Amino acid sequence: MPYLIQGINDWQGAFEKAGFKNAIMGKVAPTWEEDSTWSLEDARNSGIIYKPSPVQNAYGPSTTDPRSGEIIESHIGWFHNVMELLRNWYMIQAGAIDPRARKMVFDDELMGQLIRFVSSHEVGHTLGLPHNFGSSSGVPVENLRNKAWVEANGHTPSIMDYARFNYVAQPEDNISAAGIYPRIGDYDKWAIEWGYKLLPDAATAEDEVAILDKWVDAKAADKRYYYGRQGQPDDPRDQSECIGDNAMKASAYGIKNLQRIVPNLPVWTKQANEDYSDLNEIYGEVVGQFRRYIGHVCYNFGGIYETLKKNNQSGDVYEFVSRATQKEAADFINKQVFTTPTWLINKAISGKTGVNSTSTILALQEAALSRMLNTNTMNKMLNAEASIGNQAYTISDLLGDLKQSIFTELPGKKPIDIYRRNLQKAYVERLGNIINPSPASGGITIFFGNTSPSVDTKKSDILSYLKGHCRELKIQTDAAAASSSDKATKYHLQDLSDRLKKILDPK
Ligand SMILES: [Zn+2]
Repeated sequence: MPYLIQGINDWQGAFEKAGFKNAIMGKVAPTWEEDSTWSLEDARNSGIIYKPSPVQNAYGPSTTDPRSGEIIESHIGWFHNVMELLRNWYMIQAGAIDPRARKMVFDDELMGQLIRFVSSHEVGHTLGLPHNFGSSSGVPVENLRNKAWVEANGHTPSIMDYARFNYVAQPEDNISAAGIYPRIGDYDKWAIEWGYKLLPDAATAEDEVAILDKWVDAKAADKRYYYGRQGQPDDPRDQSECIGDNAMKASAYGIKNLQRIVPNLPVWTKQANEDYSDLNEIYGEVVGQFRRYIGHVCYNFGGIYETLKKNNQSGDVYEFVSRATQKEAADFINKQVFTTPTWLINKAISGKTGVNSTSTILALQEAALSRMLNTNTMNKMLNAEASIGNQAYTISDLLGDLKQSIFTELPGKKPIDIYRRNLQKAYVERLGNIINPSPASGGITIFFGNTSPSVDTKKSDILSYLKGHCRELKIQTDAAAASSSDKATKYHLQDLSDRLKKILDPK
């Protein structure tokens, strides 16, 4: 309760900046004995309502007067198990740097501070703020490791981002809680000022717009005030749960921390007289977090930055992610995902949970493949090539990088291990599914939860590139199979060659 109230009162500072004292105050609702007339049904009372429920979430709606835009009241919903969500995030993202996160039941003070941040976030919604998914992208990754800087400024300028915790910070950075938790930041304070400050010089609403536009112009070039909308599938800056200005660097640090966490999970998840379901759950959280890091990087492929502007502001709204950045993303996927992430394979964990390492790793690699190699991404690459020519990262670049990292063994005629054989098969299957899609998958294609009209591959260069790629790959697999002395490798390559032949000539 005190932490939920603190989360509300934390907004007082933002309102003071906008010119109001005690504008917002959290209080415990009176009991019937204290005030028998008080009711949550009374439209004058806003509240946070606790819901004893296993749902891992919270929400902050508001009711607005349609005539003036004034927010009249709000009922924030607080499900009990948002605490489980917070524990899992914090253990996985901060367990490597905060010893308090290394057990299944957190101390009240730590859990209280986590509740406080979610409370502030939900209250932010009720004050009229939408998610700002791009906010954390304005912070250079190295600043997230700079103790003095990140403790003073926070790891994201907005609590309305899904920035969760500072997973970039490394143990040797000695960053305290002030640099790990999200809090109401520069962007939020500015947004409250923009929305609430009294403008006595403005006689009409139109006069106010002119003043507000000037405030927007004054901050337009400052990345700390960047707004990235939720559900923007093309802009790598606007993705859920990523932090920092470079996903490759941020994710590499996040993975370093996951590598520190995994061997400790049997100890951290151990509670007296329990089975291994907690170990299984938290290991699953590690895999999920790794998948998130992969996802953040993959949004760079075919990426398009969207910087929302009014028509009196200079510069383009849409810009292509640079070739160099996409190359950096391809290098990351090669190093962290396609090179078998053996750190995930832990016999002490799989022996207790039964988790299947080959399936786990293949699923992560397929997640990367499906994001890199799909018609939507390739269509965006074609558009970039047509627009900016040789500054673009092209389908040809993509396929070249994929082949180089997935078929590393071929030029040196090296034996291919089981993880890599699985990956190579998954890759060839993916090529086949795009070149010869099953009739049922026509029409609408679902990408990352967004529906996009499917691309007609027959009327673009996509098929030509993919088929040419398959022809080259078949020649190489045939040659490698012929000279391979390792039986599993030889059979595998012969199988790939058969599959490629069928892809190119389906009967
Ligand atoms: Zn929210």
